[in-house]
Amino acid sequence: MALYCENCMRLVDTPVCPRCRNRKLREPEPGDFCLVAEVPYMQAGMLKELFSDNDIPCTDRSALGAGITVKLGVNVGLTRLYVPFDKLDEAKALYDAFFNAVPEEPV
Ligand SMILES: [Zn+2]
Repeated sequence: MALYCENCMRLVDTPVCPRCRNRKLREPEPGDFCLVAEVPYMQAGMLKELFSDNDIPCTDRSALGAGITVKLGVNVGLTRLYVPFDKLDEAKALYDAFFNAVPEEPV
């Protein structure tokens, strides 16, 4: 059973969060926003649309931090996508289907 870290908004499999060392992990609740994936900015927009088409609430954060994003331009960098815990499996399935549908190399 994965535990939820409120600081990182992600599920972890260890008693202590490997990212922030948080020891106050708890069982995830349906409304907890959990990390689905870290994706390039351009694909984040498409995925958010896909999630919203499937009635999955989604929120995002820049993986680089606002200052760096502004400096490099909005098209550079990664975006982290979060959905509620009760929609996580659904969102991951959509995410997998989305990336499997995109060819690795342009034909
Ligand atoms: Zn953490």
